[in-house]
Amino acid sequence: MRVKKQIGKKRIIIAIDGPAASGKSTTARRVAQQLGYIYIDTGAMYRSVTLKALQQGLLDDLRRSPESVSDLIKDIAIRFDGDRVFLNGSDVSSEIRDNRVSREVSFISSLKPVRDRLREMQQELGRERGVVMDGRDIGTVVFPDAELKIFLVAEPRERAKRRYAELIAKCPDGGELPDLDELEDEIRKRDREDAEREHAPLKKHVEAHEIDTSDLTIERQVDIVYNLALDIQKDGR
Ligand code: C5P
Repeated sequence: MRVKKQIGKKRIIIAIDGPAASGKSTTARRVAQQLGYIYIDTGAMYRSVTLKALQQGLLDDLRRSPESVSDLIKDIAIRFDGDRVFLNGSDVSSEIRDNRVSREVSFISSLKPVRDRLREMQQELGRERGVVMDGRDIGTVVFPDAELKIFLVAEPRERAKRRYAELIAKCPDGGELPDLDELEDEIRKRDREDAEREHAPLKKHVEAHEIDTSDLTIERQVDIVYNLALDIQKDGR
């Protein structure tokens, strides 16, 4: 793994947005490693809040009266330690990837008080710059002044295949795995919900570089983003 020292170089913010399974987190993590930056997975933050709603049995209440959201966002602390995510001190890294969380996360992330709270936390995490942050609204809402904005896309079928490979890797005996068609339907549904919501919908910023990863290797997509970042650092833009 190439890790280039960026001492003396301008530290920038790299915002990587795009739909589910478009390659954001793998790209963001590796680019951060190569630049010596921190990586923040904002999807993991929305997933953590969703897990809390499930654990506390708040979903029905929230659907009936979204005002009860204040119970959900009070006393919420999310911390990253490398690849691990901690919610109020507990390691929730694998639980937040459960399908029941994936099914409810678009609803929870459509609630404005949840978004306002997490946006504040994300802006604080990126305050010192030198960060690669991925999500749905990083370039449009959280850091509209990010020096580099990327919008990753890929064909829904290709994204379903990637999700499937991830699930197989996690559960090699097959277990209760959804099939490819089901995964593709879920991905399309989540894209639709994320793009159609009122607050901070999934949208490409006009300045964002759109990269279609359907036929790209991970190495190639990392290289493209890394080289764009180096150009910006060099120009001092
Ligand atoms: O990136 P990931 O697929 O883990 O994100 C899970 C969900 O969190 C998304 O489908 C979206 O509903 C929500 N999200 C969001 N804004 C972000 C990041 C994620 O609304 N910045």
